[in-house]
Amino acid sequence: MSSNLTSLLYLIAAVLFILALRGLSSPVTSRRGNQYGMIGMAIAVAATLGRHGMLAEGYIWIVAGILVGGAAGAYVARSIAMTALPQLVAAFHSLVGLAAVFVAAGALNAPAAFNIGLPHHIHTQSLIEMSVGLAIGAITFSGSLIAFAKLQALMKGTPILFRFQHQLNLVLGLVILALIVVFVAQGGPQTVFWVIAVLAMALGFLLIIPIGGADMPVVVSMLNSYSGWAACGIGFTIQNLALIITGALVGASGAILSYVMCKGMNRSIFNVLLGGFGTDSGGVSGAAAGGDRTVKSGNAEDAAFIMKNASKVIIVPGYGMAVAQAQHAVREMADHLKAEGVDVRYAIHPVAGRMPGHMNVLLAEANVPYDDVFELEQINNEFSTADVAYVIGANDVTNPAAKTDTGSAIYGMPILDVEKARTVLFIKRSMASGYAGVDNELFFRPNTMMLFGDAKKMTEEVVQSLDH
Ligand code: NDP
Repeated sequence: MSSNLTSLLYLIAAVLFILALRGLSSPVTSRRGNQYGMIGMAIAVAATLGRHGMLAEGYIWIVAGILVGGAAGAYVARSIAMTALPQLVAAFHSLVGLAAVFVAAGALNAPAAFNIGLPHHIHTQSLIEMSVGLAIGAITFSGSLIAFAKLQALMKGTPILFRFQHQLNLVLGLVILALIVVFVAQGGPQTVFWVIAVLAMALGFLLIIPIGGADMPVVVSMLNSYSGWAACGIGFTIQNLALIITGALVGASGAILSYVMCKGMNRSIFNVLLGGFGTDSGGVSGAAAGGDRTVKSGNAEDAAFIMKNASKVIIVPGYGMAVAQAQHAVREMADHLKAEGVDVRYAIHPVAGRMPGHMNVLLAEANVPYDDVFELEQINNEFSTADVAYVIGANDVTNPAAKTDTGSAIYGMPILDVEKARTVLFIKRSMASGYAGVDNELFFRPNTMMLFGDAKKMTEEVVQSLDH
């Protein structure tokens, strides 16, 4: 295949990747977006394999790699629960980081094959790109492994802090930079290459351990961004247009996603990265915080009765709805209520669940009409005119402590004002706190009724009661 044709195919693949990102920005177009991405990737892989001499030798390894990797990826993607997606993404990113390390090692050992010079005479520019890509790849590799371990509960989610932690990280970062200079100046010695790899892996580990479990989704998205930049750097080294463009797209979109998540929690990216969030959340356990205060609890029949007689119900989904996979039952309940003439809407907090768009995806899967779904800014004023807020498996995103308690870990986060509804129905299994570990004062309010139970089971019972 001529190099012009390869470049053209890479360009087409890049356009498809951009269309994929565009499509993924809304649940309505996300399926189409995914398809664009898959076609783009197929074209990029085919164009790479079609390059001159690519399949001449070792094609068995390439085919075997595609089969084994593709089968493993398909199996994992099909069997994974939606709630476990953040750790899956973290695990995949660690592989992207490792791949960047290996590609850099390959380029160092066989520069002629990558057209970047001869052994011990590699172009200076390539040495810079290679070592920077190596360092970012190694940081991404170990950092993503720690993020995976924390999210999968293989490691405690609480931040691990020690004295002079940030200073140590700074020194390590500076040593890596100095070694990159030495590596480039000395024409790419192997020992320095591997010392950079080991130190960067240590830095990745140290950077992520002080970050608490609640911030992990932001970190995963940020590591996603790093893996993109690592791929982009390596793309320059091996002069691969597809890798440069794709890497830059991943790098930029990951960075924007991290920013959006931080904005949703009203925290700065530095606050997240410097870690420590969740060590002292200011909350005590639900029972202790409650003291002697009484909690009003009800059952599905009570909830059905209240909602049947309401004229406006706002459903607030959260992480618990995802865990229970209650979205279909919720839609069924909404259909029943609408049939009774009730105005039913859904209010989505930007960080409800465990990843951006988590609730939108679940509601779309249950065929909830997009017109019924509203973002926080669009609907927050409407709680005061609602008869019922049906809070299903959501907690932190409704917690007024975010507005009033300056010592709270979630202070400053915009919240859904469910408390303003005439009645607040909280569907959850216990008095336990949410992800940030902060108690929710609303459980004790006179206009709150707790419906203790699994979100799906409880909502199905509400549907049955509405039927009668
Ligand atoms: P929370 O984690 O605050 O609360 C979820 C609640 O669901 C829990 O209190 C739990 O209570 C309940 N629950 C769990 N399982 C079930 C079940 N099977 N049936 C019924 N209830 C259940 O979730 P929110 O969605 O309100 O808030 C999201 C949190 O995640 C925020 O703190 C946010 O900052 C954080 N986060 C989100 C990100 C995102 O991108 N979406 C990114 C980073 C952080 P109980 O155990 O009593 O049932």
